Amino acid sequence: MTVDDLGFSSRAIHAGQEPDPTTGAVVPPIHQVSTYKQDGVGGLRGGYEYSRSANPTRTALEECIASLEGGERAFAFASGLAGEDTVLRALLAPGDHVVVPSDAYGGTYRLFNRVLKPWGVEHSIARVADVESVRAALRPETRMVWVETPTNPLLGIADIAAIAEVAHAAGALLVVDNTFASPYLQNPIALGADVVVHSTTKYAGGHSDVVGGAVVVAAGAMTPRGESVVERVAFHQNSMGAVAGPFDAWLVLRGLKTLAVRMERHCDNAEVVVDFLQGHPGVTAVHYPGLPDHPNHEVASRQMKRFGGMVAFRVKGGEDVAAKVCAETRLFTLGESLGGVESLIEHPARMTHASVAGTELEVPADLIRLSVGIEDAADLVADLRQALDRLT
Ligand SMILES: *Cc1c(COP(=O)(O)O)cnc(C)c1O
Repeated sequence: MTVDDLGFSSRAIHAGQEPDPTTGAVVPPIHQVSTYKQDGVGGLRGGYEYSRSANPTRTALEECIASLEGGERAFAFASGLAGEDTVLRALLAPGDHVVVPSDAYGGTYRLFNRVLKPWGVEHSIARVADVESVRAALRPETRMVWVETPTNPLLGIADIAAIAEVAHAAGALLVVDNTFASPYLQNPIALGADVVVHSTTKYAGGHSDVVGGAVVVAAGAMTPRGESVVERVAFHQNSMGAVAGPFDAWLVLRGLKTLAVRMERHCDNAEVVVDFLQGHPGVTAVHYPGLPDHPNHEVASRQMKRFGGMVAFRVKGGEDVAAKVCAETRLFTLGESLGGVESLIEHPARMTHASVAGTELEVPADLIRLSVGIEDAADLVADLRQALDRLT
C-alpha cells in the first residue's frame, strides 16, 4: 500500500511526512537552512544543494499537496499570487491570450490586467458560470482558460469538467484556482484541469498565521507548445525564486493535517448562518452554492463534496448599511482574507475588491462577505443578529 491509496485525512497527515530518519521525530523538522554540505563536488545528500532550489520542509509540503489534489507534482510559493505569477510566466508568452473570469479574486485580475498585459499577454473576460460565455471568449491565440470556483466574492460556480472540454478542444490549458473549496471539497484535476493553484494562506494554512501559495500540475500535462508543464513550472519556480520559506512551509503542512475536520465544521456552520440570513428581513439576497435556488447548485453538488465556509449576502439600505454591519459585529472580525478558524466579515466593494472598481469585475456595493469560522454556530448567529437587527 502506498500513501496515495489512503483516504484524504490519512494523506493529509502522512503524505510526504515519514518520521525523520535521524531522530524519529514524527513531525518533519523546520530545515531553517540555506545550503547543504556536499560529499565531494556534486555529491548531494538527497538532492539538496541550495534552499531556493529545494528544501526538505518545502518538499514535505509539496508532496503532501500533490497527493491531496491528485497531481503529479506540487510547488510551494511565498504567496498565492507568487504561485499564479510563476504559472503564468512559465506557460504563456507575449502574444498569447487568456480567458479570465468575470468574478474573481481582485489580485488575480490585477495580475492579468496590470502586470501581464503590459508584457503582451492579452485577456478577455468570460462569465465562467456559463460555459457558452467561455467558448465565445476564445480566440485563435488563446493558450489558457483561468477559472475560480466557487468565485470570490459572489460564490458563482463554474462547471470544471465542461470548461476543461472547451479549453482542450481549443488547444488551451485549464487552470483552476481551488482556494475557496480546498482540496478536501473539490479536486479539479480529477475533473480535467491541467493546473490547480491555491492561496495556502486561506483554508490550507487555516489559522491566519501564514501567507503562502501552491501550484499543482496534473500528470502528463503539456503546454500548447508541446513542453512538459511540470518541467516549465519547476524551472520557473527556481529561476524566479518566489519560494515558500521553511517555517511558512511547516505552518501550512501543520494546517493541512486538520483540513478535513476543519472543512466539515466550516460547512456545518455556514449552513446554519445561511439559514439564519435567509430568514432575516434586512437581507435581500444570500449567495451560497448549497442553496437549491443557486443558479449552478446542481453543478456544485456534482463537483464538490460540500459547499464550503464562504457566504455572501446583500442588505437593505445599500452601501452605507453594509459597511456599518461589517463594523458592528464582534465575533466576526472585520478584516480581509478568509479560511481561518476565526470568522471574518468584510465589505468587498471597499476592501478586497476595491482594485476592480470601475472594471467589468466590480461587485455590488451592498454586498457583505463572510468567512464562517469554526466557533460555535449559535454564537455566530447571535452576533449577526444583533448587528442586522439594529441596522437594517
Ligand atoms: C487570497 C487569494 C489569492 C491570493 O493569494 P495570496 O496568498 O494572498 O497571494 C488568490 N486567489 C484567491 C481565490 C484568494 O482568495
